[in-house]
Parts: sequence; C-alpha cells; structure tokens
Amino acid sequence: MDTSMIVKASIALGGTGLIMGGLLAVASKVFYVEVDARVELIRAVLPGINCGACGLPGCDGAAEAIVAGEASNTACVAGGSDVAKQIGALLGMDVSEVTGVANKALVRCGGGKNEVAHRYIYDGQHDCQMAQQVSGGPLLCPYGCLGLGSCITSCPFVAITLGEDGLPKIDWDKCTSCGACVKACPRGIISLVAEDKEVHVLCRSHNAGKEVRAVCKKGCIACKACEKVCEFDAIHVIDNLAVIDKDKCTDCKKCVEKCPTGCLADLTATRG
Ligand code: SF4
Ligand code: SF4
Repeated sequence: MDTSMIVKASIALGGTGLIMGGLLAVASKVFYVEVDARVELIRAVLPGINCGACGLPGCDGAAEAIVAGEASNTACVAGGSDVAKQIGALLGMDVSEVTGVANKALVRCGGGKNEVAHRYIYDGQHDCQMAQQVSGGPLLCPYGCLGLGSCITSCPFVAITLGEDGLPKIDWDKCTSCGACVKACPRGIISLVAEDKEVHVLCRSHNAGKEVRAVCKKGCIACKACEKVCEFDAIHVIDNLAVIDKDKCTDCKKCVEKCPTGCLADLTATRG
C-alpha cells in the first residue's frame, strides 16, 4: 500500500474540513440573529397544534408576534385564559384581570336524519363543502346540517364525532374554541358560544314558519311562544328566527319548555 497516498488524502480531507469549519464559524457570526429568549418560553406555553385560530402563522409565528408586541397575551384562542395568564406572566404583565368564560363550539341545528326532508340523494364525496356545491346540498332546508362531517375532519383536537342522529356532536371537554370547525362548515351552522350559558337556539333557518314546518320537525317556526313566556325580555324572534340575548337570559328554561318544536336546547348535560 502506498502510505504517501493515504497521508496526502488525510491532509486534503483534514484541510477541507478545517476550511469549511472556519467558513461556518464566520457565517454564524455574520448572519447571527439575536433571538429574544421570551420567544422560546412563550412558544413552550402555547398548545403547539398550529391551528391558526389566532390568525398568525402557527405557534412559532404567534410567539414571535406576541414578543414583538404585534399580538396580545390573549392571542391564542385555543389556549384560553390559562395560556394568556402564563404568557402575561412571562411578559411581566399584571394578569389578575385575565379571566373570562371560555367559548365552546356549538352545532346550531337539530335537524337530524329523521327530522329533515331531502330533495335528492347525495352520492358524492363525503364532504359538506362538495355536497353544498351540488345545487346547494341535498336537504330541503337550505340552512340545515349536511351531516357529512367537514367539521369533524377539520378539528385538530378530535373533539367532534358524528352522532347516531346524523348530526355532529362536540365534546366540550376537548373543544378549545380554536374555530377550525366554524370555518370548515359551509352552512355557517357552528358558532362559538359562552360555555356558561345553558339555553341555545339550535336552528339557523330564516325561512317563514310554514316553510320550516314543511321540511324539518325541529326547526324554529317563528311562533313567538318563547318570546311571550320569557320574563326577562331575553328572547325575540327576528327575521323568522328566535335570538337569545345572552346578557339578559337567566337560563330559567321556561322558553325551552314552551317551544313546540324543541329547537331551543338546554345544554346543561353538555356542560357537564
Ligand atoms: S356542521 Fe357543517 S361541516 Fe359539520 S357536518 Fe354539518 S354541515 Fe357539515
Ligand atoms: S317557541 Fe320555538 S319555534 Fe316558536 S319562535 Fe320560539 S324558538 Fe321558534
């Protein structure tokens, strides 16, 4: 074996390594960007699921924006007040005021597969947005839940499942109110509602009562029975749909008892 060849190759490789190492060392000095240590600390507090509900480019972007003062300590919707408090503490803020009732996602439709009438059978891809594009969807109610689960697949927390009645069910223990399902629903049925309120209207139809009655057993028929029974002036029929003023509603549930179609829901069980 020619040992001089081995020595030459070793010197060449070693020299190349030294040169590359030197260049990297120089580059690291030239291109060094100082990172605020708080960005890493805040990043560790954020849920890390990059849901985008804050409107920023993922949790990394949110942490950077918060430290830069471009987003507030309450920016993380999914994290809620707990995360807001932790971030506030890291930023040296007074977080005693950071409270607030959490919001939870609610499917505002009670028209399950046995309640709502269909005008055609949809046999396409299992996707609500696709179904919506086929002549506005297969339901006779243009506001009703299509039940094909775009909300379910959009939820990063696996908080939504399809119930036996064909309507999505949201597990409030898992729901972080990130809003992904709200954006995914082509019917605009899902809303974020205050977790501490028990009575909600599970219908979005603005059609006249007669039309609603013809296509769905559970829709709001604008009969105003709820409005008349409410002692707190908290519920009114507006544009053919009952609307609850959550600030006035005391959750007495008299309207729930009076509603002839059952479109007013008592979510006590959902709250746990
Ligand atoms: S709530 Fe909206 S997205 Fe979810 S199944 Fe119903 S129509 Fe589809
Ligand atoms: S009682 Fe029920 S159906 Fe009648 S207006 Fe009120 S919510 Fe609608």
